[in-house]
Amino acid sequence: MQCFYHRDAAAVCTCKNCGRGLCPSCAVDVTNGLACPGPCEEEVRALNRVISRNKTAYEKTSGAYVRVAAFYATVGVLLLTAGLFDWRGQAWLLLPAGGVLLLAAFVHYTTGRRFDKD
Ligand SMILES: [Zn+2]
Ligand SMILES: [Zn+2]
Repeated sequence: MQCFYHRDAAAVCTCKNCGRGLCPSCAVDVTNGLACPGPCEEEVRALNRVISRNKTAYEKTSGAYVRVAAFYATVGVLLLTAGLFDWRGQAWLLLPAGGVLLLAAFVHYTTGRRFDKD
């Protein structure tokens, strides 16, 4: 393949944006790829920013789910404990609530783990 901009030069890579062949003097290094100088270069940089922002958002989402799961689990265990230690009173009503919270904690935790995967 020949360089798109210099027909006499051999292409050493292709632009990440448009796929045109580029010679060493045309290719612009855009951190995780190579692009034509100018609009393609900007396009690839913009794309890279979007990808890296998305990754961060994904990681944060996972953390948020796990934190909510930990909160639900804590409250769930407290309610279950209160319900079990006062079974003669009205506290047994807390048992189903505690169970629901533990279930919610489990669902949040598994959802969070799914976000953590690549
Ligand atoms: Zn290009
Ligand atoms: Zn060239």
